[in-house]
Amino acid sequence: MKNLIDKLEKNQILSKEEFVRLLAISEKDDIDYLTERAKCVRDDIYGKRVFIRGLIEISNYCKNDCYYCGIRRSNKNAQRYRLSKEQILSCCENGYELGFRTFVMQGGEDAFFKDDVVCDIVSSIKERYPDCAVTLSLGERSTESYRKMKEAGADRYLLRHETFDNIHYNKLHPVELDPENRKRCLRDLKALRYQTGTGIMVGSPYQTLENIAEDLLFIKELNPEMIGIGPFIPHKDTPFKDFESGTMEMTLRLISILRLLCPKALIPATTALGTISPQGREKGILAGANVIMPNLSPKEDRKKYMLYNDKLSDGEEAAEGLNKLKESMRKIGYEIVEDRGDCIALKDR
Ligand code: SAM
Repeated sequence: MKNLIDKLEKNQILSKEEFVRLLAISEKDDIDYLTERAKCVRDDIYGKRVFIRGLIEISNYCKNDCYYCGIRRSNKNAQRYRLSKEQILSCCENGYELGFRTFVMQGGEDAFFKDDVVCDIVSSIKERYPDCAVTLSLGERSTESYRKMKEAGADRYLLRHETFDNIHYNKLHPVELDPENRKRCLRDLKALRYQTGTGIMVGSPYQTLENIAEDLLFIKELNPEMIGIGPFIPHKDTPFKDFESGTMEMTLRLISILRLLCPKALIPATTALGTISPQGREKGILAGANVIMPNLSPKEDRKKYMLYNDKLSDGEEAAEGLNKLKESMRKIGYEIVEDRGDCIALKDR
């Protein structure tokens, strides 16, 4: 197995079958070797620096009905909210004082946030905080919309492809959601020179190791600057309420594989990973991740952005808990830095 790990580290692309074998490793020695190689590669490229992003969840209204998601339109128990421009700017002000230099505006696909509304907010943030990056994560939009938001100053865009396999995609989403459109969005974002993020949920219902192997091949080809992966966690008010969560072990293994596959990528230790294990974030960093995204949303709304059961939004997951988070990173030998935290690959563009 070590030869497959070495091959990956030397940038030799593995076949789908080889990825499946690597994903199925179970010997402790092999897992330790994979984790160690990934950690070394990350340390070589990004050092002991961990980048933070202030996550602002701007709306939980969503026109989509993804079977896994707690803010899907059919969830009548979700208490809907939407932040105003003033609220979003006040989150940024708070975040800037705390040391955040990237703000991530994420939300459901909410028709209120038309292009001109988003562009106005983005340009106001950039005007007030020219040293900060703005990341958007607002779902599928037209090519023109992505172009306008880029011109308004958006630097990055997160849009997980969720799964490369169209049959699997159709098991996770209603028919009106077209997997080809999702991929079109990602190609647009790359072409418009956003720092582009994609990713999957680990252990989503019906997912096979073959699916994940294809996701890895797709990610290698797309060459995203950011890769977000976290375990699937069920939400009690969704059709997938009775499915098991993805595991921490598989999520960590994938973080390490992704670090070797795309050495320069920005890879977060996600909230979902922190939710399934109290040590999830630290383990994610030790497995090769280099980003953490604490929550900067107004406290009264955080619990309403409930994508899955028991989603964390306080303690070290909250922007106010930054000192505790800094301490927990220091304990494992890493340092949270006040920096935009751009992808190092930008220098090669
Ligand atoms: N609407 C935007 C989009 O589609 O990219 C952003 C919001 S969406 C809720 C953000 C991500 O949450 C999705 O890409 C999905 O992977 C993740 N997510 C949703 N439900 C989840 C669940 N039950 N478990 C883990 N992750 C989940």
